[in-house]
Amino acid sequence: MKFELPKQAKELMAKMKKAGFECYAVGGCVRDMMLGKETKDWDFTTNATPEAIQSLFPDSFYDNKFGTVGIPFDVKGSEKSTFAKATADKPAIYEVTTYRSEGSYSDYRHPDKIVFGDSLEEDLDRRDFTINALAFDGTKIIDKHNGISDLVKKLIRAVGNPEKRFSEDALRMLRAVRLSVQLMFSIEKKTLAAIGINSSLINKISGERIRDELIKILSSRKPAMGIMLLKESGLLKEILPEVEKCFGIEQQSPKRHHIYDVGTHLMKSLEMCPSEDPIVRLATLLHDVGKAVTFKKTAEGVITFYNHEIVGASIVKNFTQRFHFSKKDSQRLILLVHYHQFTVDARQTDSAVRRFIRNVGIENVADILDLRVGDRLGGGARETSWRLELFKKRLIEVQKQPFSVADLKADGHDVMKIYKTGPGPLVGAVLNMLFEDVVSGKLPNEKEVLLKRIKDLKKESKISV
Ligand code: ATP
Ligand code: MG
Repeated sequence: MKFELPKQAKELMAKMKKAGFECYAVGGCVRDMMLGKETKDWDFTTNATPEAIQSLFPDSFYDNKFGTVGIPFDVKGSEKSTFAKATADKPAIYEVTTYRSEGSYSDYRHPDKIVFGDSLEEDLDRRDFTINALAFDGTKIIDKHNGISDLVKKLIRAVGNPEKRFSEDALRMLRAVRLSVQLMFSIEKKTLAAIGINSSLINKISGERIRDELIKILSSRKPAMGIMLLKESGLLKEILPEVEKCFGIEQQSPKRHHIYDVGTHLMKSLEMCPSEDPIVRLATLLHDVGKAVTFKKTAEGVITFYNHEIVGASIVKNFTQRFHFSKKDSQRLILLVHYHQFTVDARQTDSAVRRFIRNVGIENVADILDLRVGDRLGGGARETSWRLELFKKRLIEVQKQPFSVADLKADGHDVMKIYKTGPGPLVGAVLNMLFEDVVSGKLPNEKEVLLKRIKDLKKESKISV
């Protein structure tokens, strides 16, 4: 099989070679190329020093923390698919790294210093997995660690001694799980066993880096499988003890319909959640974590979890802080968990339905419905019920009416413009009148209609204050 590099990658390598240096595409991009997958980022390795690379490419920039030179590329005229990172105003970046050898690690995450290596072979030795230790010179694949054979066997296998490699850099354990679920590969036996032995070292890794891997696992096609693999490998109890604790918490009791323990229910809910959004999937995975804390069993054997959604929301808050989620993502996660028990009782009033929308946030309503579908299917119920369907209709119905003057499609500025006046009580009086008209159904909440109504009110001098 013949492999092709993108045009600009070929140009970059040709320029390096012409200047007398070795240069190879290396790592994940070669793996993806061989798997026939689109690659996110092309990385290169070379015997040229960062300074030499920079002088060949005047637009390049050097990140000395990682020893990597970034070379921006104009993507105009190139096939877009090979430059997923590029946007209209942001060029694609190729990363070129001087050969490195494995330095010594004393903190389980960073080599004490970056040590440049003398050869491609040395550079391949420091890479995490055999399938990530492939290089391509434009014509042939360099495969020192039998990565191609593992690609064919669909195996994630550590380069060298797995225990040593994971104790050097504990993030590799999480990368193994993430790659396994992204590529649908198995983790080779010794590599998996080494994760079990070293799992507690993951706590040495920063919250942000763990979060990024977790989000990649949750964004994959089989997120529940990824979380299960975290559990089997011993990483879940380290990263998400809140979820691990839920396994074995029984829910079956005379007054409840639950068929699974809480942990299994969370896994099944995640598996069945229809959303592709990793935050909604995460909320689904976490929605019942409060149950491990609120579990109570009466003498008659009835199990209750009072206020588990409120306790759960505070557990989720702590979780988002630990992993440095953005404010927006944290808020969504907390809201989705806090309100996941929403009732869909047909007897609730319109204002109760509106309050639900206000509490969850209009932008999160579709997401909490997805969480509910996961929750139902993950508990052995049908996807929906007539009550849930009716509730969805009511969500739409109540939104047709504005909730307050602020939701009107015309505002105070429109009133002031038409009345040729400044701020004052008249503006509020006109808006209140419009609000009444819309709520009572006399007028639709449409800008043109409301503007005309303001003009008519002025003409008729209907309002005076
Ligand atoms: P992705 O699809 O997310 O880009 P990737 O394998 O390409 O996956 P990158 O973070 O882009 O991951 O890293 C590029 C390459 O650098 C890897 O394929 C691997 O060879 C090497 N690498 C990355 N992280 C590590 C690590 N922690 N230890 C050893 N080698 C690593
Ligand atoms: Mg990559």
